[in-house]
Amino acid sequence: MKAQTRPQEPEIFAKYSAQWNQQWTRLRESNPSASFDWYSIDGKTAREWALPELETMNQGHCSFCDNFPLDEGDHPIEHFRPKTDPDFYHLAYEWKNLYYCCTTCNGSKREQFDERLLAPDEPDYDEYRYFLFDFESGGITPNPRADPLDQERAQITIDMYKLDSRSKRRIRLTEIEKWDNDRDLANIDSYAFRSFLIPELGEVRT
Ligand SMILES: [Zn+2]
Repeated sequence: MKAQTRPQEPEIFAKYSAQWNQQWTRLRESNPSASFDWYSIDGKTAREWALPELETMNQGHCSFCDNFPLDEGDHPIEHFRPKTDPDFYHLAYEWKNLYYCCTTCNGSKREQFDERLLAPDEPDYDEYRYFLFDFESGGITPNPRADPLDQERAQITIDMYKLDSRSKRRIRLTEIEKWDNDRDLANIDSYAFRSFLIPELGEVRT
């Protein structure tokens, strides 16, 4: 999970998100099993308004696992704090709660949440502080040099998004192999799982 800077909130969100949050809260409070459907304005859903901006946040890569490119079509938008949790109804359309995300990460986390979960755009977040990358297996573990709370946060993040799944390990190894034949930093954003290819910012894996 690479560190990211959140783009500015689209005007449409600045204008309507409070109203949409209220609408969703009211709907769920009157019917707790009401299903979520993005509200629309000016002929587009809020999801369609949000996607292009969110996509730039991590150069078109999944905000959590860094997979790239994501399948064409129905990209989910990840609600970091779940929209179906009564504590977070009011954040369903909150710009800072939304992330560009692959279907695998979105489907793994579902409606789970833990306050210790790491967000890629939280202040001072640095992937190398929290995670250790294993270039032999393609695996990811909490950084054993991190303090206990940081390790706990890393483990929760790995578990909820299944960042260390067998299939993710396999794809990472394939990317490492491809990268080894290229190693041109100008191309790095066309690779998935970039943290594995360049273990420290700007430094090519040796
Ligand atoms: Zn992902």
